[in-house]
Amino acid sequence: MKPIRLVLLSLGLAILAGHLVAAELPLVKILTTGGTIASRYDPVQKGFVPALSGAQLVEAVPELNEVARIEVEPVASIGSSDMTPEIWRKLAQRTNEVLADPRFAGVVVTHGTDTMEETAYFLDLTVTSGKPVILVGAQRAASIKDTDGPRNLLSAVRVAVSPEAVGKGAMIVMNDEINAAREVTKTSTLDVGTFQSLEFGKLGYVRDEGVRFYRAPTRRQTIALEPAAKLGRVEIVLHYAGADGSLIRALLERGGLDGLVIAGAGLGHVSGAMFEAIEEVRAKNIPVVVSTRVYTGRTLPLYAAKGSGVSLVNIGCVHADNLSPQKARVLLMLAMTRTQDTKELKAYFDR
Ligand code: ASP
Repeated sequence: MKPIRLVLLSLGLAILAGHLVAAELPLVKILTTGGTIASRYDPVQKGFVPALSGAQLVEAVPELNEVARIEVEPVASIGSSDMTPEIWRKLAQRTNEVLADPRFAGVVVTHGTDTMEETAYFLDLTVTSGKPVILVGAQRAASIKDTDGPRNLLSAVRVAVSPEAVGKGAMIVMNDEINAAREVTKTSTLDVGTFQSLEFGKLGYVRDEGVRFYRAPTRRQTIALEPAAKLGRVEIVLHYAGADGSLIRALLERGGLDGLVIAGAGLGHVSGAMFEAIEEVRAKNIPVVVSTRVYTGRTLPLYAAKGSGVSLVNIGCVHADNLSPQKARVLLMLAMTRTQDTKELKAYFDR
């Protein structure tokens, strides 16, 4: 055989082998929403803005080609402080559609870190498939030399294709750590290791050697969101020394309040004055969930003073277990698509 033919033949075989290897890699859908991971410094606006397309995010991480075949789809291009329930809904719908397709092993959502934990919990509750749903972002923008985005994206895809990740719901993967949606919270404005599960710790690690889980989230539930179901307006009000309930009364006066979450003090306590405003909310049969501004631990009705747990339960408030106020809001919004009954709502928070 002439040397040129030999070269062409081996080239053809190499391409074929490459295709076969690629075909064996699992398929992952990346849904992009913006955030620091996709942001660049804009000298005109003098700050970071979401600018990178999904394709650019993927191109920056050539190692992804060794882990998975990737399809990218934009859902939004925002800083996550502009995340909304409408976008949550769209993300949940697309994630459910993608994961129902047997070709896909998992979904990765790129997202700003500011409200990532809320989106993660919304997806944890509304995605019906057991396949992994991984949220990922960055603390250092894509235009910063030592951005953490590319490594985080690679880690996220590694977890999305890990058989061990199946059945563990939505997770946040950043800084080589895997955290469960229900438990994780942003703990630092700037540190790359910002996401932590303060009370019970991370689920596991992802490193170059592979993905390793050490525990699984057990308090999980699914509330499939019907297309016609309305997500109500649920607000969060913080308790602080001297809080007198005037913010709650302002919400009532404005109208349209469907549910209220209290970020109480300690075990979920409020002042006597704030309690009276909550009584007015309950008199209108609007559900009230009592969470706490404390980072760890449950809210419980142990004290009897006006504004403490026992008095709040007596007027039909529901305790949030150990959910943060922002996650209690997500669960309340979804539970209220099924019931307004206090006892039934309580059951969602006790699961
Ligand atoms: N402002 C950004 C956001 O949440 C911060 C980040 O992504 O870390 O979208």
